[in-house]
Amino acid sequence: MKKNNADEYNDNNEEISGLVYSHDNFSEDFESDYGEEMRVVSTEYQDDDSNEELSIRPKTLDEYIGQEKVKENLKIFIDAARQRGETLDHVLLYGPPGLGKTTLSAIIAHEMGVGIKTTSGPAIEKQGDLIGMLSQLSEGDVFFIDEIHRLSRVIEEVLYPSMEDFIYDLIIGKGPAAQSIPIKLPKFTLVGATTRAGQLSAPLRDRFGVIERLELYTAEELAIIVKRSASILGIEIEEDGASEIASRSRGTPRIANRILRRVRDFAQVRAGGVITREVADAALNRYEIDELGLDSTDRRMLESIIKFFDGGPVGLDTLAATIGEEAVTLEDVYEPFLMQIGFLNRTPRGRCATRGAYEHLGMAYKTRDDFNRQTSFFDDDDKK
Ligand code: ADP
Repeated sequence: MKKNNADEYNDNNEEISGLVYSHDNFSEDFESDYGEEMRVVSTEYQDDDSNEELSIRPKTLDEYIGQEKVKENLKIFIDAARQRGETLDHVLLYGPPGLGKTTLSAIIAHEMGVGIKTTSGPAIEKQGDLIGMLSQLSEGDVFFIDEIHRLSRVIEEVLYPSMEDFIYDLIIGKGPAAQSIPIKLPKFTLVGATTRAGQLSAPLRDRFGVIERLELYTAEELAIIVKRSASILGIEIEEDGASEIASRSRGTPRIANRILRRVRDFAQVRAGGVITREVADAALNRYEIDELGLDSTDRRMLESIIKFFDGGPVGLDTLAATIGEEAVTLEDVYEPFLMQIGFLNRTPRGRCATRGAYEHLGMAYKTRDDFNRQTSFFDDDDKK
């Protein structure tokens, strides 16, 4: 039986299952859009993430590792709002998947001492869905909308007055006789999360008082996250083992936690249960994740740019078609990390592989001039 949208909305008593459920949902939507396989280094939420997920999710700002600038800002806004006895301004969190946007929304509610209701952009299909959810909010609650850029324009229109004046217009009747009755809502904090801030309409973006961008994590921060998760899950791990997992997790806590679980299985069956550097290395090699955290798709993408497009620039759609991936997947999931480690440049004319990418793949570096010289050499040959 298909669940209706009201069922997909969870109240605070089901906060925990709410978070999981909304992700399951989101993951399904996302997958159909992205067609991404269940790869170990996927930044997407996968079903087997849910088992131990809840116990390792940080609950307070102090437990939340890294993102110092974001945390500092939020602390100030939260303290100020609490001192004035007001609700927190609406917050927009953006950045690649798996960096902790959902986690942060629950932390904001916790730190403000309020409840949280959770949903996602694609789950709100009709105006009635949104109104149903808004009218269940209590004063001060956090209303979390994941993938907020996927809200339809019609829904956005309903959201504007509720974000601004905490009212919505109830339309009674149809046609010329229709009447609009403004209904008051409790004050709430909308926390929106998105991987694509650029796709948000300007009027929606302007209604957020706090806009924070989450960055990819450093290997040191990820090592702390891995050790924290390991201790909660009762996994024995050495310092070097944690660093090895961290440096191969593409700057993303979700991947670090997933790799930790996979390496634990490997350690249990093959290495007496303790995760050492050697065990982590052997397990990751087995999963074809290289020493920088790149998997076969990352390598295929870079190799294609170099082999078929002389290192670039190549347009995103052409590249996506060449390697059989969705353009949106390349853009949201693969590119942020490849750019962060300096293997890929985004230029107005397209994507370019850098010298670092050539070297990492063991390919001889050629500049555009080298390729042009090669071509003109053949041109000259033709003329002879
Ligand atoms: P997003 O909503 O951005 O896709 P999530 O909030 O679902 O990401 O986070 C993914 C996983 O990473 C969660 O299981 C969470 O436990 C972990 N995580 C995210 N950020 C942090 C952090 N700063 N410290 C510790 N663990 C984190």
